[in-house]
Amino acid sequence: MSPDDLKALVRSIPDFPKPGILFRDVTTLMSDGPGFAAAVAMLAQRVEAAGAQAIAGIEARGFIFGAAVAAHCGVGFIPVRKPGKLPVPVLAIDYALEYGTDTLEVDPGAIADGARIVLMDDLIATGGTAMAALELIRQAGGIVEEALFLVDLPELGGASRLREAGVAVEALLDFP
Ligand code: AMP
Repeated sequence: MSPDDLKALVRSIPDFPKPGILFRDVTTLMSDGPGFAAAVAMLAQRVEAAGAQAIAGIEARGFIFGAAVAAHCGVGFIPVRKPGKLPVPVLAIDYALEYGTDTLEVDPGAIADGARIVLMDDLIATGGTAMAALELIRQAGGIVEEALFLVDLPELGGASRLREAGVAVEALLDFP
């Protein structure tokens, strides 16, 4: 299955969740068995090339792809969670959204000092979410040299922000 075949499985919904946003819905790709398997295999190749010891996935769609890729590669999966979900003392970071702020949390005990971790989410737009997750993992002692996404929206500049922070960024699909 080619990247163009995968791209055709992503549904585009105008004006969701608010007017002016073109939502790239990856649930239609996930519900296609061959498409989901191909995407996971392609992402896994990149994790293996990076020599990662674990994948950190961002709640919620980053869990679906990240966990599947981690199992495929036989490496651990670390959930980067929305606030109040982890049952242990956490490292937390607030980050700016277009309107207001949000918070991500991680269990510092899940990250071995110096572990090579690949950061994953379904999609990178402005990069605010991924930059916050990167900061958290680095605070916990993890080394992040690579971030992996199914979809990049390059015009929103998130991939460039991550690269400026010293992280190699790869995405299977981009929507200019
Ligand atoms: P950002 O922090 O701007 O890079 O936004 C990334 C997060 O928001 C990811 O977890 C995406 O799932 C979600 N997201 C942002 N923009 C879109 C979009 N146009 N379509 C689908 N998901 C999006």
